[in-house]
Amino acid sequence: MTAVEPKADQATITVRNPADGRVAGTVPVDGPDTVAAKARELRLYQTEWEEIGPRGRKAWMFKWQDWILDNADHLTEVLMSETGKSRKDASLEPVALADSIKYWAGNAEAFLADAHPKPHTLIYRVKKLTTVYRPYQLVGIIEPWNFPLAMLALDVVPALAAGAAVLLKPSEVTPLSAVEFARGWTEVGAPPVLGLATGYGETGAAVIDNADYVHFTGSTATGRKVAVACAQQLKPLSLELGGKDPAIVLADADVDRAANGIAWGGMFNSGQVCISVERVYVEAPVYDEFVRKLTANVRNIAQGQEDSGFKYDTGAMATAAQCDIVDRHVQEAVAAGARVLTGGKPTGVGTFFQPTVLADVTPAMSCIAEETFGPTLPVVKVADEDEAIRLANDSKYGLSATVWTGDIDRGERVARRLDCGAVNINDALTNVFCPSLPMGGWKDSGIGYRAGGPSGLIKFCRQQAITAPRIPTQKSELVWYSSSRRQARMAIRAMRAFAGKGVRRFGVRPGK
Ligand code: NDP
Repeated sequence: MTAVEPKADQATITVRNPADGRVAGTVPVDGPDTVAAKARELRLYQTEWEEIGPRGRKAWMFKWQDWILDNADHLTEVLMSETGKSRKDASLEPVALADSIKYWAGNAEAFLADAHPKPHTLIYRVKKLTTVYRPYQLVGIIEPWNFPLAMLALDVVPALAAGAAVLLKPSEVTPLSAVEFARGWTEVGAPPVLGLATGYGETGAAVIDNADYVHFTGSTATGRKVAVACAQQLKPLSLELGGKDPAIVLADADVDRAANGIAWGGMFNSGQVCISVERVYVEAPVYDEFVRKLTANVRNIAQGQEDSGFKYDTGAMATAAQCDIVDRHVQEAVAAGARVLTGGKPTGVGTFFQPTVLADVTPAMSCIAEETFGPTLPVVKVADEDEAIRLANDSKYGLSATVWTGDIDRGERVARRLDCGAVNINDALTNVFCPSLPMGGWKDSGIGYRAGGPSGLIKFCRQQAITAPRIPTQKSELVWYSSSRRQARMAIRAMRAFAGKGVRRFGVRPGK
């Protein structure tokens, strides 16, 4: 069963619920001409969107935030219908979206305020220096299928708050939530600066062709193609790509908390999270206890998709192809000597894959070396902290990590030795819910950062420098051609006095 109909020269995409195969809706396939027309239209309205400033934008965005909270149940239903998520997993997304609008729209005025840096020498005290943040006119955002609404909270919301128009390309697998997201924008009457382009990879490529800045979230392989396209067109970009996040459980950890937190951090959203725990390194003294407790927790996870209420913890895989990757990783591990402690198979219904714990795994196995993006937790016994850090860093990815310890100072020391963009101590996934922190992947996990307080908005802006005189100006400046040579010599002498140190400032060489 697939979440989408096979690719063909078709005018629409039929979206299906991967949990049961039911048709969830259809969207058009936007070809390059349609995308270009949408981009032109968005540019027309962006000028006004920029001109109303952060306060004017906040007023519209706060109306939209109300709409999202008022329609949270409906948005959850749509999310479930196209992803196969459980209600518990899906319900988090509209709330995360509202929280993001509050943060970015609420802080944009402060974050984008003009800056007046101090001149670096006395000479320039006669100038008023200003840094102005001017948004890119059209930001193209290409998103994947794992969080059809929450991803938009991370990227589309700050781009709009920065004053850019946004052309959003959701995944072909899960476009329906984005349709609702854009419908809310229109229903509150906000200016038409949020556009949607639905379709396949060709539509994504057209979004790149028409945008001034590109943000992409998805696989490292497609991210490379996006980077090449942006390089050819000299367009700035940010990439948030795959991960293989390690968890390190030290012998002084609260083993119950580690086993609870890692079960959640690995299985939330059926493991389809770029920052989910994908491999676990445990110090030998607590290995047996940890594995026993983790296995019990994972075995207790209720999996399914309910019609009402909160019955299940986690749901289906978003695509059959993703389910096949998980299955291959488990089968290859077992063939190479790993033990399945719980789970290990597709359930046979829809695209559900049993929450799985693997023991006796080795670094060469695909479940450790490749991104799985599914509900598996391979656990490795290590001799000590150094071995855990070495194995954790032995990956082409560097998105984030978790460290579990009874000693926070030790946890921070370990964090500073890990080659990745974020480390959560005694917790999982936390950093992504804190927009005042930067979120970015190192190595093959990405380029650039999301969020991080002011820089989360400034990334969608061009910085413009403006200088202006602070005092009445003369007819000429000392170094201009209209001044005499004597005046030019005086000016250069003054500049030297500020550029140098000690006696060199006055044209003297020490010791001469
Ligand atoms: P992709 O990276 O292929 O797709 C992500 C987005 O890019 C989709 O909207 C896709 O459109 C679009 N796209 C595809 N080709 C191009 C192109 N040439 N130019 C511009 N846009 C393009 O992700 P997949 O859905 O195929 O997932 C594959 C793997 O990615 C997973 O197994 C997982 O490992 C990883 N992944 C990582 C995520 C993360 O959060 N870091 C999220 C999801 C997946 P369309 O879907 O229409 O092809």
